[in-house]
Formats: sequence, structure tokens, C-alpha cells
Amino acid sequence: MSDSMKEVVETLDPVSRRLIPANIHSGTLVPLKTTLELRDNLTLGLAYITRAPNRYTNDVVTIARALAGDDAAKNLPHLRRCSKPVDLPPHLKSQFMNEGSGRAVHTGKSNWLYILLGAKDELPYDELLRGLASVDGIRDDIFIGIIPVPLLAPTSQVQANLWSQQFWQTVYRKNNPLGPHPSNICRTTSVVSRDASVWMTLAHQVARKSRDDGLGEPIGAVIIKRTVPGKFDATKNTSGQEPEDKETTQIVALAGDARWYQQEKTGRTGNPMGHAALRAISMVAQKLVRTENRTENKPAIMEFEAFQDGPLLDDEQVVFEAEHPCPDGYLCHDLELYLTHEPCVMCAMAILHSRMGRIVFRHRMPLTGGMSSEDRGYDACGNSLACENAPCGGGRGLGLHWRKELNWSMLGWEWETDTVERLVVDPHLHA
Ligand SMILES: [Zn+2]
Repeated sequence: MSDSMKEVVETLDPVSRRLIPANIHSGTLVPLKTTLELRDNLTLGLAYITRAPNRYTNDVVTIARALAGDDAAKNLPHLRRCSKPVDLPPHLKSQFMNEGSGRAVHTGKSNWLYILLGAKDELPYDELLRGLASVDGIRDDIFIGIIPVPLLAPTSQVQANLWSQQFWQTVYRKNNPLGPHPSNICRTTSVVSRDASVWMTLAHQVARKSRDDGLGEPIGAVIIKRTVPGKFDATKNTSGQEPEDKETTQIVALAGDARWYQQEKTGRTGNPMGHAALRAISMVAQKLVRTENRTENKPAIMEFEAFQDGPLLDDEQVVFEAEHPCPDGYLCHDLELYLTHEPCVMCAMAILHSRMGRIVFRHRMPLTGGMSSEDRGYDACGNSLACENAPCGGGRGLGLHWRKELNWSMLGWEWETDTVERLVVDPHLHA
């Protein structure tokens, strides 16, 4: 174990320290892409542009704003309003130079500017023409061009440069309307990568134990609570505690897959309620109920046999018996989930509904996973017997970690490593 890992282990809660093996393998966190980032990144629309001597540009911009309204003006804030002729993309330069009084406009001493008026759909052409005719400097030779422009902001400087060359001068404002803010990913990745290896090692360990005990597939889940220094923790506010001064992590749930527990393993899918992620979430729920019942002196909680959410392995039992570190919040709010495999669509939705804060998984499940956004190939299953005669797979990745329309989003990563034995499962399996 490296010195830095020893340091990390020293800060772990006693239960985790008891469970982790001597050898903790390291890996790298790769942020998950959102469906928007992969597919709708470049949505083009048409925009009107005009040109005017620079002392009239204010008049022109005022007319365009009045026609489009404030909202529409905000729609293209990533595009520069004005552009010198020399800064136009080459193909526009040569096109406009030959239209109307273009030659004069494009000379070296020209004080003319090209002006982006707004999205074509937002501006009634006749009114625009009438408005521009009221501007002294251009009324005798009104120029209106229509160009394609990116409707959404770029997500990197490189992309902004590219679009400036292809369409119109584009500004990268270090934000990302298509996914989590880059600085948030950056900051959180460095926080999580400190001990992600510990939790992934634990997830692998419980996965192997589940398989070896015949409970289920080699799939494991770990849920932890992380308290970051200085971060306001709403769950602790009522007790008047000061923010923590050092980062602490505590394990909340540990669960292996148990789909074959009390099930006959004959070509079926097993008990879907026994999926590792569902069991882990359910164990968190039981801890919350346990705390609540204690304070109100209610009778013991119920266990649902169908859910297989009681601890089955010794390691699960140890974690299950430990108290929940912050039993005040909603189910898994702000907790972190570490999985050996990309969760199936059912589990992905359960994770989302539990309001998990972050998710890390190792093995991607290209046919059945719910978190990745990449489109699925038709060759993802390799040479499995189940689909000898028909191609399987294909379709769009769901990217369920970050879908604004689902009203909850998480930061997600894949954990890449070369040093840990792969936990191979059938590619058709729903993890
Ligand atoms: Zn599942």
C-alpha cells in the first residue's frame, strides 16, 4: 500500500477499515458524458446578419433587440454581436465581398462591421427591413444575409475556435449548458479520486464473495457518505454543528448481487430485486427506518423477502449493523455509490429516485446499462450463444445520470484500471 493510500485508510471509518483488504488497487476516474454532450452539441439554426459603418452599429443592434425581445436576445449570447469584415470565416468573407457594396466594405481601411441581428425565426423580415431603413448610414444599400449559426454554447475553447472558423465568432464562457459545469467536475473528481480506489476495491470484494457463495453474479455495490470540509451540510444544521474541518467518509451500505439467492439458476434472469444497487439502496432505507423507529419507540421494521435486502454476507452484516452517519436526509441524498458494473435501467432509475449524489462504476454494460450516453453498437455482445442468428444491441445510450427532464442529476464516472481482475458477466445481463 502506498503512503498516500495509507493516509487515506487512516481517515476511514472503523467499519470500512475492518473490511478492506491489504491490497488496494488504484484506478482513474473518467467523467461520464451526457446525452446532450454526445448528440445535440451542434444544433444549427439560421440567423440574420447585416453590415453598417461602426458609428451606426448601436442603432442597428437596438432595432434588432426591439424586434426580437429580450429573451431572444439572450438566446445567442455565445455569439459575438459584431464582427470586423476581416474576422469573418473565409467562406462568408468571399461570399459577402461580392454582394452589393461589399468591395468597399472589405477594404483594409473600412470602418464597417458585420452585425448579428438574431435568430431568423425570431425576427419578422419585413419589420427588420423597415427598421434598418430608418438608419441613416445604411438605408440606401440595406444588406441582409442569412447564415447558419450554432444555437447552443460551445463546451470548450477548442470548439469555440472551430465554430468561429465555420460559422461566426463564438465565445467560450467556461460553462456547459449540456452537462455539469467543468469546474464542478474538476473539483469533484479530485475529491472523489482521493479514495475511490478504496470503495471500488470493497465493491469488487463483495462482488466476488457473492459469486463464490452462489448468491448472485459477481456484481457489488458500496454506498458512502462523504463530508467535505467547509461545505454547508443541511442535515447537520439543526444541531448547530460547525462545518467539518477535514474530509471524512463513512460507509453506509455494502451489497453484493443476490439474484440467484433462493432462485433456481436455470436460464432465467434471477430475482431483479436482488440486484446489488437495489439491495444497497434498500439497506440505506432500512437504516433510516431503524433510526426513526428507535426515537419513536415503534416496533421493529419489516423486511420484504422479495427484495432480498437483508444482509446475506458477513461483510454486508457488519456494514448493516453500523449506524447511519446522518439519518436525517432523504434516502440517498448526497451519498456516493460505487458499483463494479454499470447499473441496468431499472437500477439506474432507482438510483436517480433515491437522489444519489454521485456514481462511479467500472464495467460498462453496453447492451443493458442505463448510465452511459454513448450509442450502442450491434456487436456489443461478441459471440454469445443467445444471439447467434440475430444481431442484438444498438440504439441510444440513456445517460440517466444527467437528464434534466428527470428532475435530478448526478455526477458520474467510470473507474478505469488495469490491475484489478475483470468481473466478467454475460453481456446480456442486467446488472
Ligand atoms: Zn439492476
